[in-house]
Amino acid sequence: MADTLIDFDEVVATYDPALGLEVHVELNTNTKMFCGCPTTFGGEPNTQVCPTCLGLPGAMPVVNAKAVEAAIRIGLALNCDIAEWCRFARKNYFYPDMPKNFQTSQYDEPICFEGYLDVDVEGETFRVEIERAHMEEDTGKSTHIGGATGRIQGADHSLVDYNRAGIPLIEIVTKPILGAGEKAPLVARAYVAQLRDLIVALGVSDARMDQGSIRADVNLSLSPKGSGVLGTRTETKNVNSLRSVERAVRFEMSRHAAVLDAGGSILQETRHFHEADGTTSSGRPKSDAEDYRYFPEPDLVPVAPSREWVEELRGTLPENPTAKRARLQEEWGFSDLEMRDTVGAGALSLVEETVAAGASPQSARKWWLSDLARRANDAGVELAEVGVTPEQVAGVQRLVDAKTINDKLARQVFDGLIAGEGTPEEIVAARGLAVVSDDGALSAAVDKAIETNPDVADKIRDGKVAAAGALIGAVMKEMRGQADAGRVRELILEKLA
Ligand code: ZN
Ligand code: MN
Repeated sequence: MADTLIDFDEVVATYDPALGLEVHVELNTNTKMFCGCPTTFGGEPNTQVCPTCLGLPGAMPVVNAKAVEAAIRIGLALNCDIAEWCRFARKNYFYPDMPKNFQTSQYDEPICFEGYLDVDVEGETFRVEIERAHMEEDTGKSTHIGGATGRIQGADHSLVDYNRAGIPLIEIVTKPILGAGEKAPLVARAYVAQLRDLIVALGVSDARMDQGSIRADVNLSLSPKGSGVLGTRTETKNVNSLRSVERAVRFEMSRHAAVLDAGGSILQETRHFHEADGTTSSGRPKSDAEDYRYFPEPDLVPVAPSREWVEELRGTLPENPTAKRARLQEEWGFSDLEMRDTVGAGALSLVEETVAAGASPQSARKWWLSDLARRANDAGVELAEVGVTPEQVAGVQRLVDAKTINDKLARQVFDGLIAGEGTPEEIVAARGLAVVSDDGALSAAVDKAIETNPDVADKIRDGKVAAAGALIGAVMKEMRGQADAGRVRELILEKLA
C-alpha cells in the first residue's frame, strides 16, 4: 500500500485527521523508581541492578519520592488535576528485557489528569488537551547480535542489559487532537517541541530526544471529512526527533488515505518509523488495555500527596511558556514574524541562551535561523544537535563585532567549531581567518586591482562611485575574503580621487 500514497493536499480535502500523542519522559532522578540503584547512563551492563529491579523472589519495591515530586510538577505545569490518592498497577506482558514479566505502571488511577498545553503553531494558539500523566518504570535494553540491521530478525542471539530496568518514566497522554486538519503534522511537532521545552524548564529530565530520554508515540487516524466518527488508529512508536514526529504524521496520513481510498481498512497496529526515507512499516497488532490484565500493585502503598505539598510544588514551577514567549518577544524587539520563525525553528531557547552569553538578539536569531539551520537541515539533525553551542555562537558574534572577522569568515569558524578545532579564537588563529585591515597589505592589493581593471578605475575617476564594488570584489577575492571591506573602499576612493 505504501507505494500508492495519496498527495497530502488531497488527504486533507477528503479526511479529518485525529492525532494522539503519548510521550515518555525519562526522569533524571539519582536512583530508580522502586529501588536505590543508580541511574547513571553508560555503566557496564548489569552493574546497576539489585533483587528489586531484577524481579527476584521476595524483593519489595519502594516508591521514589523524587519521582513523585517530578510527576506532580510536570502535571501542574500541564494544568492537570493532581490525584489526592492514586495507586500503581501491574501491566502484564512478557518481554525478555522486563524481568518481572510485568511493568509497574498506573492504570485507572493516574497521578495527574485532565490538563492542557497551549501550543503555538505558525502564530496561532492550539490547545492540546492532556488526558493523563502517569508514573511507570523503564524496561531494560536488548541488543540483538548477528543480524544485518540490529533487529531481532536474523540475529543469532540477544544480550540484555538491565541497568535501565526500573528507571522512572512519566508517560504523558493527550486526548484525541481534532480539528488540526492540514496543520496536524505541525501541531504534533509543536506539541512535542513545547512539551520538551517545558520539561527542560522544569529540570526533571535530560530531555534528549536523540538519546531516548524523551520518546514520542504518534497515534493517527482518519475519518471522512465532517463525519465526526473516529477511524481506526495506528501507533508509530519511539519517534526520536521533532522532525520525525512531523514526518511520521504526514506519512501515516497519506498511507491511511491510500488504504481507505482503495476500499481497505486500517489495521490497529504499532508501526516503526524509518529515518532514512520517512516511511513507517508494520510492527505488531496493538493490544487493547484488557489484554494486559491490569490489577492494582499489591506490594506498594497508594500515593496520596497532601494538598500542602502540591501547593508548595506549584510555587516551584517555571514561567508559563506562553507568557515567556510574549516577554522574550518584547525584550528582544522581534516582529511577530521573526518570533514565529524562531519558535517554528525550535530555536527559542537557543536564541535565549545565546543572548544570555552576550550576543544581541538579532545576531543570535540570524545565525541560528540561517547558517546553522541550513547545516542542521543538511545533516538531518535538530538545531540543538548541530555541533555548535549558544556560547560559541556568542563568541563568534563577539569576533564579528570586534571586526576581527566578517560574516563570511564566521561561516568558516562554524566549520571549525563543528569539526572540534577549539574555541572561535583558536580557530581564527589556526586557520588564519582574521580580517586584514592593515593599510600596507590592503594598499598593495588595491593597487593590483586598479591595474588589472583599468576600465573600472576610469569609471570611478569619472565619478561613478558605484563601480567601486567591482574593485572591492577583486580585492576580497585576492585576499580570500579576509580584507576589511570598509577600509578597502576608502583606499580605492582615495587612490582614484
Ligand atoms: Zn535495583
Ligand atoms: Mn508507557
